[in-house]
Amino acid sequence: MTEPDCIFCRIVAGEIPCHRLYEDDRVLAFLDIGPLSEGHCLIIPNAHYATIDQMPGDLVAACTSLIPRLSKALIAVTNAPGWNVLQNNGAVAGQAVDHVHFHLIPRHGGDGLGYRWPAGKLDTDRATELVAAIQAEL
Ligand SMILES: [Zn+2]
Repeated sequence: MTEPDCIFCRIVAGEIPCHRLYEDDRVLAFLDIGPLSEGHCLIIPNAHYATIDQMPGDLVAACTSLIPRLSKALIAVTNAPGWNVLQNNGAVAGQAVDHVHFHLIPRHGGDGLGYRWPAGKLDTDRATELVAAIQAEL
């Protein structure tokens, strides 16, 4: 399952070069061409899915099962004391390429990267409603 105009599908197909870190029959990992830090890389499914909710769970598992192994390698090479695993769905959430991808971003103190996290307060009554509504959809 590929999309001819998708840059990640073209990378999987070898039509566009990338710095491949790992690949198997379902998953590809490669260095991000616009890194936020040294070692910033992406894990993608070889098949095209725009957002994670469209993917079969076992393919999500195939992608995410690479995270510990790749994280250890990244930390060993970059000496980063921390890292982010980031996965965006939809343009409003910051997704720039409509092919599911997981970012692994090594982090260092004072690296200037950040994110806004304006935490609110969970209302107990609304939480009860949300739990019922979400569970009804599961
Ligand atoms: Zn694609």
